[in-house]
Amino acid sequence: MEHDVIVVGAGPGGSAAAYFLARSGAKVAVLEKKKFPRPKTCGDGLTPRSIKILDELGLGSKLESYQKVKGLRVLGAGKTLDLDWPALDGFPGYGLVRPRKDLDNDIATAAMEAGAQYHFGTEATEPLMDGSRVVGVRWIKKATAEGGGVQKVDEGVAHAPFVVVADGASSPFGRALGIERGAGYPLGLAIRTYYRSHRHDDDYFESWLELRKGDHLLPGYGWIFPVGDGTVNVGVGLLTTFGEWRSVNLNHLQRDFIDMFPKSYGITHETQTEPYQSGRLPMGGSVEKPYGEGYVVIGDAAGMVNPFNGEGIAYALETAKLASGLLVDALAAGDSAQLHSYREALNDVYGSYYRIGRKFVKIIGNPRAFRALCQVGMRSQTIMEFVFQVLANLAADDGGKLGDRGFRAMMKLAERELPRLAEPEISTPTPSSEKKVGAA
Ligand SMILES: Cc1cc2nc3c(=O)[nH]c(=O)nc-3n(C[C@H](O)[C@H](O)[C@H](O)COP(=O)(O)OP(=O)(O)OC[C@H]3O[C@@H](n4cnc5c(N)ncnc54)[C@H](O)[C@@H]3O)c2cc1C
Repeated sequence: MEHDVIVVGAGPGGSAAAYFLARSGAKVAVLEKKKFPRPKTCGDGLTPRSIKILDELGLGSKLESYQKVKGLRVLGAGKTLDLDWPALDGFPGYGLVRPRKDLDNDIATAAMEAGAQYHFGTEATEPLMDGSRVVGVRWIKKATAEGGGVQKVDEGVAHAPFVVVADGASSPFGRALGIERGAGYPLGLAIRTYYRSHRHDDDYFESWLELRKGDHLLPGYGWIFPVGDGTVNVGVGLLTTFGEWRSVNLNHLQRDFIDMFPKSYGITHETQTEPYQSGRLPMGGSVEKPYGEGYVVIGDAAGMVNPFNGEGIAYALETAKLASGLLVDALAAGDSAQLHSYREALNDVYGSYYRIGRKFVKIIGNPRAFRALCQVGMRSQTIMEFVFQVLANLAADDGGKLGDRGFRAMMKLAERELPRLAEPEISTPTPSSEKKVGAA
């Protein structure tokens, strides 16, 4: 195969990049190791930020069939607040829910219609190098063997002057290229599954701020997102800025979360429809050099999940668009120099917001600070509406500045209230390994 660009991975990031590149006339091949449609561990929640760019991908009419939500219902500090999405220029005033099996397929279809060639069941195993420059990928195709198990059925190489690394949070191809997350960046850990429930068409995302380990509050949250097909997507997420995260078994946390629901929710272990699935959320722009000679890194592979709220789809789509713009210039110029401005471009859009986000998750990694912030925020609908807007990075005309202002306001409140709201630290946990974080 000879192409202008090879995209590794057909998640939202990879397929959006394929769409934008194909639309600009580039010959694009997408290698995806799974067969589509395929399930993907996710909360399936789409904020107005995601919807804005899904619309740019031409999904407008398809979005009509997704489950619509007016905003976020937050439960914490003994209160419940319904927070509607803000009315902002440039963003829709609603969110959506769409299982990733379908969403990722919809975006891939848009890219194929734009002219991108997809190779499903094809895994990029390592980069082809010419000196220090990436000039393509080595790939293998696997299939289920007759007696069960998986066997290699084909292999080969594909050449292209540019490669987009969009292989997700664990980024095996990225690692083969030597791409690393910066030490000290936050990571989210989350688990989810589906339950049958009459709340499947609720008008709101629901977020529970009080996850507990015994009597102690943990810095994380649980969610219920209405899927609209008779089920809800329910999960919990935790931050590694919480010093004792290794002691938390996500399977247990999810079980305990389900046990917290009132009977009226109709969500119980008996209504669970699929096994638990967990995953990681690399946050805050944790890959410090997401480009090199002949390649760019986007989405989760570049560590671009929003540290404030764990949202990653919007950032995979947006970094795909940004990188594609530079790749079009690089193709026209015939060299990699244009890609050198990628980090600067990311910094312009996300730099200050993500820097503050990283500080924010460091502070809320302390259960006392987390509790204090919840208690202060939940006292006021107005404060929480503002916090909601900042956490979802919906600062339409204000770039990162609203994030700065919002964060400073929240920190001021926390500083004032922390001493009064201090509670004993979480008790010493039973040591256990990170391996506990996994499917049930
Ligand atoms: C439990 C959980 C809940 C979440 N909930 C939300 C949410 O509600 N909303 C939200 O916005 N974000 C959420 N996220 C984050 C979101 O799922 C990710 O940010 C998003 O999937 C990133 O998209 P991506 O395209 O970068 O990577 P991915 O979606 O991970 O796509 C990567 C693709 O690359 C393929 N691939 C990997 N290696 C190779 C290879 N070597 N060769 C070929 N193909 C390869 C994979 O099969 C996959 O299809 C959640 C994450 C978790 C773990």
